[in-house]
Amino acid sequence: MDGDFGPVEELADVLGGAVGASRAATDAGWIEHSAQVGQTGKTVSPQLYISAGISGAIQQKAGMQTAKVIVAVNKDADAPVFEIADFGIVGDVFSVLPQATEEIRKRRS
Ligand SMILES: Cc1cc2nc3c(=O)[nH]c(=O)nc-3n(C[C@H](O)[C@H](O)[C@H](O)COP(=O)(O)OP(=O)(O)OC[C@H]3O[C@@H](n4cnc5c(N)ncnc54)[C@H](O)[C@@H]3O)c2cc1C
Repeated sequence: MDGDFGPVEELADVLGGAVGASRAATDAGWIEHSAQVGQTGKTVSPQLYISAGISGAIQQKAGMQTAKVIVAVNKDADAPVFEIADFGIVGDVFSVLPQATEEIRKRRS
C-alpha cells in the first residue's frame, strides 16, 4: 500500500470489516504492529479476508488461511497468495479497491 491505507480503510468501512496487515507493512511503520496478521502476528478466521497488495508468504498465510472466503488483489499474477485465494484479481490495489468500495456502496444504498 506504499504507506497509504486509505483505500483499504474505506473498503473495510463499507463492509463493516477490520483492517489487518502484513509484517512488511507493520515493519515499515505504515500501521501499528497489533494489526499484523500471520505466524508472528494474529491468526484470523473471518467469513471474508481480502488480501490487498500482499504477496502471500507462508508466514502471512499461517495467520489467514482458515478464512472462509479469500479474495486476493495483486498486480503480480504469480504471487503465492493466488494459490489459496477463492477469487483473484490481477490488478493495482489503488484502482481495484476504490472500484469495489464504490460498487458495494451503490448496492447498499
Ligand atoms: C520468522 C518470520 C516470521 C514472520 N511473520 C510474519 C507474519 O506474522 N506476518 C506476515 O505478513 N509476514 C511475516 N513474515 C514476513 C514474510 O516472510 C513476508 O516477508 C511478508 O509477509 C511480506 O509482506 P508483503 O507481502 O506485504 O510484502 P512484499 O513481499 O513486499 O510483497 C508486496 C506484494 O504486493 C504486490 N503489490 C505491490 N504493489 C501493488 C499494487 N499497487 N497493487 C497490487 N499489488 C501490489 C506485489 O506484487 C507483492 O506481491 C515473517 C518472516 C519470518 C522470517
